[in-house]
Amino acid sequence: MEILFLGTGAAVPSRNRSTSCIAVRSGSDIVLMACGEGSQRPIMLYPYSFMKIRAILITHMHGDHILGLPGLIQTMSLEGRKSPLCVYGPPGFRESLDMLMRATGGSTVFDLCVREVVPGDSFSAGNMKVGVFQANHGVPAVGYSVSEPDRPGKLDRDKAVSLGIRDGPDMARLKNGETVNGVRPEQVVGPPVRGTRVVYTGDTASVPSVAEASRGADVLIHEATYSDEDRELASEHFHSTAREAAETALRSGAGTLILTHISNRYDSSRDAVLKEAALVFPDVFLADDFDLFEITKNGTVLKNPQERETASADRTESE
Ligand SMILES: [Zn+2]
Ligand SMILES: [Zn+2]
Repeated sequence: MEILFLGTGAAVPSRNRSTSCIAVRSGSDIVLMACGEGSQRPIMLYPYSFMKIRAILITHMHGDHILGLPGLIQTMSLEGRKSPLCVYGPPGFRESLDMLMRATGGSTVFDLCVREVVPGDSFSAGNMKVGVFQANHGVPAVGYSVSEPDRPGKLDRDKAVSLGIRDGPDMARLKNGETVNGVRPEQVVGPPVRGTRVVYTGDTASVPSVAEASRGADVLIHEATYSDEDRELASEHFHSTAREAAETALRSGAGTLILTHISNRYDSSRDAVLKEAALVFPDVFLADDFDLFEITKNGTVLKNPQERETASADRTESE
């Protein structure tokens, strides 16, 4: 699974950061999380096709998360998209999107389904499964968990051979759950391997539902609009500090924390924000626009894999 950060800024874009937009890719399927203004061109810089976007997940109806939607949907239509697209958001989302689409003359040549979701809902997006949880942002707000399907467990080949199974198609059938020549899969195949899971908070104050939803996730993408010295502002505006994000990651047992939604007030102190979180939760990155993270099958997270950075390398850089 890959996570591509197309916009990592807070409410106001800065010279370094666009407003929120994150693409999650599994195989050829893409799920877009948030769609701030200006999300389209950055997508074009990567081999991520608009047409492979299976769903768009909106956490709440603030402009920095939805103003890119009408333009993106209209581009898909002008480019002749045929496959349906589902766009999800919390209660009130349908009316907001209808207004945006009407005001911008946006009819589509493909089926656009708009669904309002509440915490506890789940649905499929391409080969991924999406779960919905409660966020707390002073307006209707949810977060999303996106996971790949579980994979078949490890096959004990030697044991299978000793039970009379030959290498080749029979071995593959057994691994895929079929009984072959009286040998049952559970005799030679280990328990299923849990699919990779990524959790995105959207904008939220620190609330227990986030830690609950991200329990055991491979990656928690948590907003960090403020640093700890501005924690009163964070609480007043229903946002989180970098330290609070790290405390949530620690409580949840998530594998890796990625901070996003970075305010332009920290343009010159990015590394201090990262360090604040790293003191609490060492396996942390702070996402910049165009950062690509690869989650390997064993849960290791590589930042910009060409460069082969690790969480600790990123942290060391900042210190
Ligand atoms: Zn925001
Ligand atoms: Zn917001």
